[in-house]
Amino acid sequence: MTINILTVCPEMFAGFEKDHVIERAVGLGLLTLRIVDIREYADGCFRKVDDSPYGGGAGMILRVQPVLDAIKAARPAGSAGPSCTAALTPAGEIFCQKTANEFSRCDVLTLVCGHYEGMDHRIYAHVDRQISIGDYVLSGGEPAAMVVADSVTRLLPGVLKKDSLLEESFSDGLLEYPQYTRPADYEGERVPEILLSGNHEAIRRWRREQAVALTRQRRPDLLN
Ligand code: SAH
Repeated sequence: MTINILTVCPEMFAGFEKDHVIERAVGLGLLTLRIVDIREYADGCFRKVDDSPYGGGAGMILRVQPVLDAIKAARPAGSAGPSCTAALTPAGEIFCQKTANEFSRCDVLTLVCGHYEGMDHRIYAHVDRQISIGDYVLSGGEPAAMVVADSVTRLLPGVLKKDSLLEESFSDGLLEYPQYTRPADYEGERVPEILLSGNHEAIRRWRREQAVALTRQRRPDLLN
């Protein structure tokens, strides 16, 4: 799979590219991550990517020309498999595990990051999806693109062990059960005895019950 991230702040992704899941996916040849600097597509000798809003108001707006030219350049050639271009915007559909699953089946996923006060509204007509990562406002789409790219990459077959994905939060409509590691006793706080019992069937049942109880308590909406 190829993930293109179109941004005016490519330097923000230096650390992200070193993340162990991303590095593993790239190393195994399962992911090509391209960080595309929108500025390289800007016309004019100043390569201006933003301008003030028509009608007045605070802040700067990403210009339509450099963003659309960057989108066109990122688009796969005709014969390629499924692809999706998504703009990150607080006005988009809320991103969830189901969307991550859908995106993970694309050959090419292109994520368009806004910045400043946002992007020229005409850009939205040229993307397939508009995605928000939650009801709050970020300074740029870059952290949102990292959220999407990370959650999609870990779903690519071969990146993680199958078991890691099977029992995770949201994978079966439930939050994950509580997890523990050594020591069994930390200053008097003990790990639930059942996990030390070696009885795999009992452990499986206990985890299921815990997952249902936690989901009922924290996220009853998931059970409906
Ligand atoms: N003025 C806009 C906010 C712009 S924030 C408004 O009020 O709606 C600048 C950029 O950050 C946006 O273009 C978008 O790409 C990104 N962004 C901000 N919040 C986001 C969110 N919750 N989800 C996804 N992207 C977001």
